[in-house]
Amino acid sequence: MKIKSADFVISNSDVAKCPKQPIPEYAFIGRSNVGKSSLINMLTDRKSLAKTSGRPGKTQLINHFIINNSWYLVDLPGYGYARVSKSSKKKFQKFITNFFEQRKQLVCAFVLVDIRHNPQPIDLEFMQYLGESGIPFGIIFTKADKLKPKAIERQVQDYCHELLKTWEELPPYFVTSSSKKIGQEDVLKFIEDTNNEIEDLRKN
Ligand code: GDP
Repeated sequence: MKIKSADFVISNSDVAKCPKQPIPEYAFIGRSNVGKSSLINMLTDRKSLAKTSGRPGKTQLINHFIINNSWYLVDLPGYGYARVSKSSKKKFQKFITNFFEQRKQLVCAFVLVDIRHNPQPIDLEFMQYLGESGIPFGIIFTKADKLKPKAIERQVQDYCHELLKTWEELPPYFVTSSSKKIGQEDVLKFIEDTNNEIEDLRKN
């Protein structure tokens, strides 16, 4: 997929105010500092479409972008930051679960994982939640430039091994680096193929 246009649409803290157009939507979520903003900018060939984070956990908004006038890219707040209080954590959870439970056009949630880290309970629990809620998801490993090819392979294998302890099937996964521009084509091709499948289903 060639990125012809990538435009900011709206930021929201209220799911009810998210865009109403019934076009396919792909959400990006992960722990703060995982490299989500950098990834969104890399995928869309833009320098600062998504704002790279100054202070983790500060921007707790649902950000909609429209890509090629045909699909929404949704930048969700990072989770798992240490500095917020318990009550704001709860509020955050509600706000995120509202999003996942109410957005009918959500096609896939990409959970971002730093490739250097071993599987973290917070990410695994989040994937569990998505699975139980019937929301298709994929995994995007970030910062692959930080490891050598052998180590990348090992980390991915270990992650898959961990997932297969609870899942029958592996989700689609992608290895990326925003600084080295790795993985852009793979992720965009997955989105393009999925959009084409949806379009075919709609026609038939
Ligand atoms: P976010 O909080 O998840 O949106 O993460 P950011 O995109 O703001 O990135 C967090 C930090 O990781 C920043 O210091 C980035 O420069 C760094 N970072 C992000 N992506 C990559 C990458 O692909 N490779 C490397 N080496 N660093 C990255």
